[in-house]
Amino acid sequence: MTRIFDDPAKFADEALNGFVAANRRYVARVDGGVVRATEMNPGQVALIVGGGSGHYPAFAGLVGQGLAAGSACGNVFASPAAAQVYRVAKAAQVGGGVLLSYGNYAGDVLHFGQAQERLNAEGIATRTVVVTDDVASAQIGEIDKRRGIAGDLTVFKIAGAAADAGLTLTEVERLAMKANFRTRSLGVGFDGCMLPGATEPLFRVPDGQMSLGLGIHGEPGISDHDLPTASALAELLVTRLLAEKPDGAGTRVVPIVNGLGAVKYDELFLLYGKIEKLLVAAGLDLIEPECGELVTSLNMSGLSLTLLWLDDELEMYWAAPADTAAFRKSNLAQRARRVIDSVLADAPSVWEPATPASAKFSAGATALLRAVQAVVVEHESELGRLDAIAGDGDHGIGMRRGVDAAVAAAVSAAEAAAGVDQVLIIAGEAWAEKAGGASGALWGSALCASGRALGNRERYSPDDAVGVVSAFSRAITDLGKAEAGDKTMVDALLPFVGTFIATYRSAASLQGALFAAAAAATTAASQTAELSPRRGRARPLAERSLGHPDPGAVSFGLIAAGIARAYADLSTEREDVTA
Ligand code: ADP
Ligand code: MG
Repeated sequence: MTRIFDDPAKFADEALNGFVAANRRYVARVDGGVVRATEMNPGQVALIVGGGSGHYPAFAGLVGQGLAAGSACGNVFASPAAAQVYRVAKAAQVGGGVLLSYGNYAGDVLHFGQAQERLNAEGIATRTVVVTDDVASAQIGEIDKRRGIAGDLTVFKIAGAAADAGLTLTEVERLAMKANFRTRSLGVGFDGCMLPGATEPLFRVPDGQMSLGLGIHGEPGISDHDLPTASALAELLVTRLLAEKPDGAGTRVVPIVNGLGAVKYDELFLLYGKIEKLLVAAGLDLIEPECGELVTSLNMSGLSLTLLWLDDELEMYWAAPADTAAFRKSNLAQRARRVIDSVLADAPSVWEPATPASAKFSAGATALLRAVQAVVVEHESELGRLDAIAGDGDHGIGMRRGVDAAVAAAVSAAEAAAGVDQVLIIAGEAWAEKAGGASGALWGSALCASGRALGNRERYSPDDAVGVVSAFSRAITDLGKAEAGDKTMVDALLPFVGTFIATYRSAASLQGALFAAAAAATTAASQTAELSPRRGRARPLAERSLGHPDPGAVSFGLIAAGIARAYADLSTEREDVTA
């Protein structure tokens, strides 16, 4: 849907006005489009690009140093009129002639062609290079019938850099033609786009299908496919484009993954990663790639792959700096990879050798973590549902990721003869790193604090359990700053700690204290249903959360009970062994 407009008929014009308002450093508005707002070198060639609107950053976004001198901007998906192209070129040119460049569409060819005649007639030397990169639109034998898509960028970039470098009109034209001849693109469409004010998409692609070679205005594709995996899509695009490698091309290539409007950057990057691997496997050297929205089609769902086959001079102009509203390329020196690696390749953490007592407890700590894991696995989806009521629904999966990582880390640390302190610290770090989310940070730091409280001592006594429980709890309140009544896990944690210490002091049984504390935590967790959240993600949706317990408090109660049971099992085993 295109939603933001007053009057669909004024959409393109008002969007362009707003673009200029937001980018006055780069562009100035003229009737028919925009021209550079920055100085040009007197006598240099002016590259004038353009086409219909709705393709941002093409075309107005590409006006600026190192790229276009001006852009003629038509209505949505409609060529600018000859008079508009003429006015933009006239305003932008600084005495070195004009190169017109645009995608090969019939309307654009007519209007830009007329403008060229008029400019030449006035003594402003003007030439044209039309972009024809889309391999799906005609066979190679009829390359001049091919339409232009994301290849606009490579041709404009090379021509713009050459113009700013002071080359003559003939040279700029030659380089633009060479860049065009060495640029090949292929696109796919997943769904059509909506023109402003329309109630139906301009065109459709059936659900679950992908159209290969579909044009950016819905021009028919060459074949329809079931929606492929990202790997299969990468393979398809790369194979087809490599088969179109231009004569005389070497091994240096610029890959460009271009999103047409509705495909998210994350998806484009994911695809780019796969494309890069395939191109490298094909023996190519990849130079300064691009991945993002470069030539779009309103909110069309689709993307394209472009390959620009470089030689020395094309590489120089491709790599030259540029600074426009939408496209920037710097010439900053690269930091050497080995410098970055050496920073992270710090000495692996070494811990002091575990005392026999500490080593003995490592196994116990790992067993208790496994018990926590069993509880989380059993209740994962229930915790997710509870978090979805007023939070973001990830408490189950977050706890799962955290505890899985903690157990794996604890097991390998214990196998490497780490003491109980290191086992818990390493497990806590793994939990925090893999779980993400508020609860991940809290559980992770609580485990680390427990490890530090236990330390690597010559001997331990049951009284140390009080220190561990207090350290666990303090880590959570210090980091999270929640207080009783805020409706967080702290509402289950504090009763747990209070009951644990009191019961242990009066009965001197760790096992009894754990069971009593777990019961108190479970009860307190269910009582959080009456509270209104004052911390964490659920706070803004306080109303919705009323009547439902806090997910973090519930998981804490469940885990406390699991630990009490596991501790009892461990004690029984120990008694069996001693008996
Ligand atoms: P996120 O809120 O980042 O999505 P989770 O869904 O895994 O993380 O965990 C949510 C739980 O974290 C809440 O139910 C609450 O118990 C706990 N929580 C959030 N913020 C705090 C805090 N500041 N102090 C203590 N516990 C908190
Ligand atoms: Mg959550």
